[in-house]
Amino acid sequence: MTSFEHGLYGGAIAYAVSPSMFWWGVFFAIAPDIPYIVLGIYSGGLNKIVKRTLKGGKDDLPEYVYKVYDVTHSFITTFILLFVLYVFDKNLIVLSICYGSHIVLDIPFHDSRFSTRFLYPISNFHISGYSETKHKWVIFAQYPIIFVVYFLLFRSKLGL
Ligand SMILES: [Zn+2]
Repeated sequence: MTSFEHGLYGGAIAYAVSPSMFWWGVFFAIAPDIPYIVLGIYSGGLNKIVKRTLKGGKDDLPEYVYKVYDVTHSFITTFILLFVLYVFDKNLIVLSICYGSHIVLDIPFHDSRFSTRFLYPISNFHISGYSETKHKWVIFAQYPIIFVVYFLLFRSKLGL
């Protein structure tokens, strides 16, 4: 699942709570990938990261990039974020759900070194999922779901 689809799901979750939070929902749903993208480009170059995202690739980035990826793709981090948002402003805790939706959706759709270690650093437990670079149906299966989600969200606005 790419950052684009994560953003669409996160935006939908935030919009359902408060339409004014749509773009924050998009941002928080993409957020777990941002450190990987920035560090990946820094250490491997833009071409390598784009190619890897679209076609998959060897796991040959520096180990610290994977560690940062594991930290940002963990429910432990999500709970810390939830706590910080709760203390800051209770109305913002939906953004931690947007963040967590990213991790929930990554668990079944990532494999190899990018398998989601969702309890990191307590545990390295992970499953080898159906990555969209190897299983193209994942790409095509998710857009009808996203369409239905947004249809339900905007149904009342469309007068249906
Ligand atoms: Zn991710």
